Amino acid sequence: MIKDIFNLKGEGVLIKGWVDTVREHGKIIFLEIRDITGTVQTLSTAQDKNFDTLKKVSKEYCVEIKGKVSARPKGTENKNSPAGSVEIKIDEFKILNKCLPLPFDLENPNTNEEVRLKYRYLDLRRPQMQRNLILRSKVIKIIRDFLFKEGFNEFETPILAKSTPEGARDYVVPSRTQPGKFFALPQSPQLFKQLLMVAGFEKYFQIAKCMRDEDLRSDRQPEFTQLDIEMSFVEQKEIIDLTEQLLKKIWKDFLGINIKIPFQKITYEDSVKKYKTDRPDLRKDKNNLKEFAFCWIVDFPAFEYSTENKRFVASHHPFTKPEMNSFNKDHKTAKSLAYDIVLNGVEIGGGSIRIHEEEIQSKVFEFLGINKKEQREKFGFLLDALKFGAPPHGGIALGLDRLIQIIAGADSIREVIAFPKNKEAKDLMIDTPNSLSIKQLKDIHIKLDLPKKK
Ligand code: ASP
Repeated sequence: MIKDIFNLKGEGVLIKGWVDTVREHGKIIFLEIRDITGTVQTLSTAQDKNFDTLKKVSKEYCVEIKGKVSARPKGTENKNSPAGSVEIKIDEFKILNKCLPLPFDLENPNTNEEVRLKYRYLDLRRPQMQRNLILRSKVIKIIRDFLFKEGFNEFETPILAKSTPEGARDYVVPSRTQPGKFFALPQSPQLFKQLLMVAGFEKYFQIAKCMRDEDLRSDRQPEFTQLDIEMSFVEQKEIIDLTEQLLKKIWKDFLGINIKIPFQKITYEDSVKKYKTDRPDLRKDKNNLKEFAFCWIVDFPAFEYSTENKRFVASHHPFTKPEMNSFNKDHKTAKSLAYDIVLNGVEIGGGSIRIHEEEIQSKVFEFLGINKKEQREKFGFLLDALKFGAPPHGGIALGLDRLIQIIAGADSIREVIAFPKNKEAKDLMIDTPNSLSIKQLKDIHIKLDLPKKK
């Protein structure tokens, strides 16, 4: 790898990578070659056998070079590259693949985002994007290491699933084998992780893909990643402690910052009264990008009245346990055992203690206007499971894309996602969503009824 070349002075090496820059000075050509570990200068002079081939090479050709490493002349070193103190005199040169003229200048940070998304594989060659995605990979590794050390197991849950109400529209998948039936893509692994607790695993996590068909606000994705956690036999405090420890570790490892824990806890009521929002930005200087003000919002109202649906809806989700004293007094004004974590005015996660008793779950459904028949149809499996010795449990989910965006200091979550969709929920590179053939539609028993073109 290129980063290892700096201490191989005098030796012959073989490198493979991309042509980062080409500089031709009459009788000498310099190619800066890049691989995932860095760049190194290579050169060839007019007498060399490869000189004419080299003259045809341009940026982003994929090449293989054999040559001898020597120290670069004093004063010409490149301090920004691990191999910047050496150069390679080209002996053998092979083009592994040519490259068309680039559709945009990879060095121009102001390239139109639509163009970047269409040629994402080129955009991702840019050092900034490589840094962001490698950072993402490292953050995920730290999270995994931390949670495994704490005794968690990582499990996958189905993508072809059933609608769970997280408050957004579902993406659905038609069934071919059961005409007229549909799967829903998970808005979160919520019920599966609860069932893993019923199964006795006690500590679960997953780096989970969640799909929500929402009208896209500027910085949302129809599919996003969350760190999903669930634990048995815990109270709110233990989940909050664990989350704080994890965030403390991430901030220390990646930003070198010692964040102070425990974070401030503010009740929903106080937050709304004092800051007019349940996502307060507690930074002293709101423009300071280096300041990180975390807080928890607790004691949410369990339910809110939806004028659209003309009924109460859960403010977190319907599996959240109400605070029982207040629930028994009056369902309408009950508080819930839910908590949100807010950083600089942005909600980065949330969770709750769950209902683990069938009777209470059923009561909550009832209050939310879900009658017995519908409860059976939609949530029969959950209500059944709660009757088989379900343990008390609770959990949390942290929005991983947002978290990594903040750590990377990036302007949008799209900068830390390899293949994001644009603001119309389209993937411009693979060009989706797209149409199906008549045969495919027939297979899944679908007839289209499209809106008239205006
Ligand atoms: N399932 C919730 C969400 O995705 C988080 C949780 O309650 O753990 O927002």
